[in-house]
Amino acid sequence: MICQNCGAQVKEGNRFCEMCGAPVQPVQPVQPVQPVQPVQPIQPIQPVQQAKPINSNPQPIKPLIIDRPPFSNFCIAGLITAIFQIGILGLIFGIIGLKECSSKGKRGMAMGIIAIILSIADVALWIVVLCIFGYALIYDAMG
Ligand SMILES: [Zn+2]
Repeated sequence: MICQNCGAQVKEGNRFCEMCGAPVQPVQPVQPVQPVQPVQPIQPIQPVQQAKPINSNPQPIKPLIIDRPPFSNFCIAGLITAIFQIGILGLIFGIIGLKECSSKGKRGMAMGIIAIILSIADVALWIVVLCIFGYALIYDAMG
């Protein structure tokens, strides 16, 4: 053993240094063990680093974009034909589009519903116009 105070050799088993009289404490070996323990808390940080690659953002975002279903072309076509008042065509496209949305999980259900409503309103308007026109024709023919 070496005296902590003066650096002189101390016989094994002596509690005090023969040169300077300083106590030779067997505490020494205990102290180096304690600094080792604070190193251990560093290890719990590693699981956090390992968790980061799992949470790494670019990877989960890509599947989200892929999973997002495309719009139903029939719903879009139905809405366009309904807006341009091609009547029945918008109704047919709207119904096919809605079926496509429910069966294939495509988006655009709202467009399909609007297309159907517009088409029905359009067809109803034409029926009313034709009825009035027909009634007028009949009225004229009757004299
Ligand atoms: Zn000493």
